[in-house]
Amino acid sequence: MQSVFKTAGIHHITAIASSAADNLGFYEGVLGLRLVKQTVNFDDPYTYHLYYGDARSAPGTLLTFFPWENLPRGMPGAGMVTAIAFAVPRTALDFWRQWLRDAGCELKEEERFGEPLLGFTDPHGLPLELVGLASPPATAYWRDGPVPYAHAICGVHSATATLHRLPETEALVVDLMGLAPAGQENNRYRYAAADPQAPGHLWDLVIDPQAPLGRQGGGTVHHIAFRTPDDPTQMAWQARLREAGWGVTEVRDRRYFRSIYFHAPQRLLCEIATDGPGFTVDEAEETLGGSLQLPDALNAMRPEIERRLRPLRPPKSERLTYSQWNPS
Ligand code: ZN
Repeated sequence: MQSVFKTAGIHHITAIASSAADNLGFYEGVLGLRLVKQTVNFDDPYTYHLYYGDARSAPGTLLTFFPWENLPRGMPGAGMVTAIAFAVPRTALDFWRQWLRDAGCELKEEERFGEPLLGFTDPHGLPLELVGLASPPATAYWRDGPVPYAHAICGVHSATATLHRLPETEALVVDLMGLAPAGQENNRYRYAAADPQAPGHLWDLVIDPQAPLGRQGGGTVHHIAFRTPDDPTQMAWQARLREAGWGVTEVRDRRYFRSIYFHAPQRLLCEIATDGPGFTVDEAEETLGGSLQLPDALNAMRPEIERRLRPLRPPKSERLTYSQWNPS
C-alpha cells in the first residue's frame, strides 16, 4: 500500500501570464518548448489555457499557463513556487547563455548542488532556470522548434517553493508524498522521487522566515501538480490526504488528466494529477497544439469563444519584444 503514495515527481506546473501571444512567443520561440495543447480555462472559457511540453507531452515536461490579457504582474514570494528549473545538457549552457542574451534576457549564474545554473525571467517576470546536467532525462525532442537537438530543454529539472517554515511541509512531502530527502544547501532543502532519470523528479523548499508573502498576478506560479499513475491510486491519495487532515477537493476532470487539489502549509496550492489519459485524446501526436480544443460541454460556445480570444500568433509587427515587456 505504501508504494501508492510515492509520487514519480512533478506532473506539470501552472503559471499566470499577462498575454497569450507573448507567452507563446517566448516559450515556443525562445525556449523551444512544444505547444502541446491550446484550450481554454474550463472555469473561465474566454481565456486561453496553453500547455507546453516535450514532443510527446509527457508528464514531467509540462508547463501550463493561464494568460489573462494585460493582467498586472504579481510578486513571487512565500507560499508559492518561486522558480521553475528545466534540465539541459551541461554542454548546452554556452549556447543558452548567448541565445537568452540575444533574446534580451538578463542572466544570473550560480552553482547549486554541484550543478551549473542560468537564472532569468520570462517576459512577464516568472523566474526560470536552466540546469546543466551531465546526463539529462531522455525526453522527446521537438523537431520543428528553433533550438538545435544538442541544446534542447529535457523537461522540468526541479521546482522551488519558498516557505517561512519547514517542518509541516517536510512531513507532507516525505511522509505523505513519498519523496526522499536529497540534500541541503544553505536554506534550500531538496527532495527527490525514486527515478533520478525521470523529468521533474526534484522538489526544493527554500526556507526564509522573512520572505514577503507572494502575490498572485502575471509572472507567478498558480499551482504545482505531482504525478499519480491512474484513477484508483488517485482515489487512494485522496483518502490518505483526507485522513491526514488535508482539505482535498473532489476529482476534477481536466480532459487530459484527472486532478485533486489541496493547500499545503502557507496555502501553497498542490495538485495530484493522473498520468493518463494524456494529450492525444483529442488530437494526434503529430498535430498536438495545432488548433483550439474544447471539451464537449463548451463546444456549443465555440463561435463566441473563438471570437473573443485574441489570435495566438499575431503578425510580427504587433508582437512585443522581450525588452518591451521588461524596459530597463
Ligand atoms: Zn494543474
